[in-house]
Amino acid sequence: MRVNYMILPFLLLFFSHASIADWAKKRASIMGTEVAVEVWHEDSAKAASAVDSVMQEMQRVDHLMSTHKETSALAKINRLASAGPVKVGAELFGLIDKSLKCSEKTHGAFDITYASVGYLYDYRHASRPQQSEVESALQAVDYRLISLDADKQTVTFKREGMRIDLGGIAKGYAVDQSIKILARQGIRHARVTAGGDTRVLGSRLGRPWTVGVRHPRASKKMVAVIPLMDEAISTSGDYERYFDESGIRYHHIINPETGDSAREVRSVSIIGPKAVMTDALSTSVFVLGVESGLELINSMDDYEAIIVDKSGSLHYSTGLEQFQSANEPEGSHNNLIPSLLASVN
Ligand code: ADP
Ligand code: MG
Repeated sequence: MRVNYMILPFLLLFFSHASIADWAKKRASIMGTEVAVEVWHEDSAKAASAVDSVMQEMQRVDHLMSTHKETSALAKINRLASAGPVKVGAELFGLIDKSLKCSEKTHGAFDITYASVGYLYDYRHASRPQQSEVESALQAVDYRLISLDADKQTVTFKREGMRIDLGGIAKGYAVDQSIKILARQGIRHARVTAGGDTRVLGSRLGRPWTVGVRHPRASKKMVAVIPLMDEAISTSGDYERYFDESGIRYHHIINPETGDSAREVRSVSIIGPKAVMTDALSTSVFVLGVESGLELINSMDDYEAIIVDKSGSLHYSTGLEQFQSANEPEGSHNNLIPSLLASVN
């Protein structure tokens, strides 16, 4: 439809009063990914400063937990913890502890020590380790080799050559922190995204927020559009950081048992109340594959999953199964999940 430019200013004036003018939005590149924040408040100055405080929080978490920044607390652990206990702040200690609990729950599918072998891959330059290098690095992959002392707040690695990386959980954590900060500032409508991790606060002014799950092999297509209120969603895919070699895809989600990329599925989306959990669980289920992955998610009350397997078929956790009938035939992947997720949880 063509817009009549004569009436446009009047229309804008009409609609802007309650909704348009008061949404503050920003995008930035932080934590090696795109961060996007949208906030609504009657007072547009308040909305704008709330957005800025989220960006600051993302930067703060990145400085603490980045493996790429030499000065981060995490980099210090990786440099020193094989030689003896390294004292860390309560926040980082807490997230490492949470990561170990996820390892136990997923029987080691989620394992931050994957980094002991993971660092040998360079997706940007399409380079990967030889099988012999993978095998020797695997000796340092085992979450049980991390020793935490809660009284002294120290981390120790029990073996040489160990490294940890919080890339599978830190963005979700940062998103949760952001939502906490927004709620504390009196914000009731917001969406915060860091790469594949999103959490929404309230509604999008009376309507649910919608978050798309993209088709893993066609960046412009969606396999589902999920309506959400007060919930988080994380997607892990084999299309984010990867290279193909002789028809095999090497990507950034590593099976800690083999030291190679996990290849049972192409993408996993997890929906639930906390982004720190949806983030860790999307990585975990990616490693576990369809059967064990759904078994895990079906055993958890508040969490649901949508999986695209290696042949492109969709699989849902039990709380979403009623939507399966709404799906189009296999291959078309253009489903709209037509109802509020809150109503099926
Ligand atoms: P992203 O949003 O970066 O695509 P994902 O949630 O999909 O993140 O998780 C992938 C990231 O998780 C990897 O980049 C890596 O840092 C980390 N990771 C890879 N394999 C594992 C694993 N088995 N356990 C824990 N973390 C992992
Ligand atoms: Mg994840």
